[in-house]
Amino acid sequence: TPLVRLTACDKSYGNIIALGGISLEVDAGEVTCVLGDNGAGKSTLIKIIAGLHKPSHGSYEVDGVPVTFDSPREALERGIATVYQDLAVVPLMPVWRNFFLGNEVRKRLGPVRRLDIDFMRKTTKKELLDMGIDLRDVDQPIGTLSGGERQCVAISRAVYFGAKVLILDEPTAALGVKQSGVVLKYIVQARERGLGVIFITHNPHHAYPVGDRFLLLKRGKAIGYYSKDEITRDE
Ligand code: ADP
Ligand code: ADP
Repeated sequence: TPLVRLTACDKSYGNIIALGGISLEVDAGEVTCVLGDNGAGKSTLIKIIAGLHKPSHGSYEVDGVPVTFDSPREALERGIATVYQDLAVVPLMPVWRNFFLGNEVRKRLGPVRRLDIDFMRKTTKKELLDMGIDLRDVDQPIGTLSGGERQCVAISRAVYFGAKVLILDEPTAALGVKQSGVVLKYIVQARERGLGVIFITHNPHHAYPVGDRFLLLKRGKAIGYYSKDEITRDE
């Protein structure tokens, strides 16, 4: 069974069809890229997979078990983590403190106030290093990191707190060439660790080198769903 299986999903807002008949599968150790211009339905698709919006029709399963959409935390609790473009980080707080921010921490480790600061600093440094980022100083405010590094911290954080699937919302959109490269390398790392990745982007040059499958959206419709092989063959 795939980690994520979306079957023939529709989503309408009044008489606007934001998504029509979208199917998508994500396996462990696989990157699915979702490409489309503004208004293609990317945000709507993210909200469905993140468990925040119930599709008007169609089904959504995680590990073969239907998502009920009874609670906004359901998908997250089942391992679907979203890293949004406008990251939920507190710029003036140290990197390590941002790493240990949020509900997932409490669930896995208990209240933060009971955790040892040195444990949090070392863990942050180690987790980043394991994914290939050597931050000399995890005490610096996260706001002093580059946009690419901040994305990487957010990705590492989700991995550490047990995500099985990462939804990355335009993680390279606001970045230059070099920083985009850092994030793309990180995406490959996450895949190598066996996560399923859903990489939302409007940039084919970023999708192509890291993607295993490609869903092309236009005005809410799938105009293509290709494996890497198919794309290479068609060229
Ligand atoms: P994208 O993220 O690719 O830009 P969206 O998913 O935001 O696309 O939007 C897809 C379509 O659905 C657009 O036409 C948009 O205006 C419409 N839409 C999205 N959300 C809503 C909403 N809450 N109410 C009405 N229309 C919406
Ligand atoms: P993005 O650029 O990240 O795709 P948008 O600016 O399209 O985001 O949309 C931001 C938010 O507004 C989303 O939650 C989307 O669902 C909602 N939205 C988009 N279009 C409409 C619309 N026509 N009416 C109401 N809400 C909308």
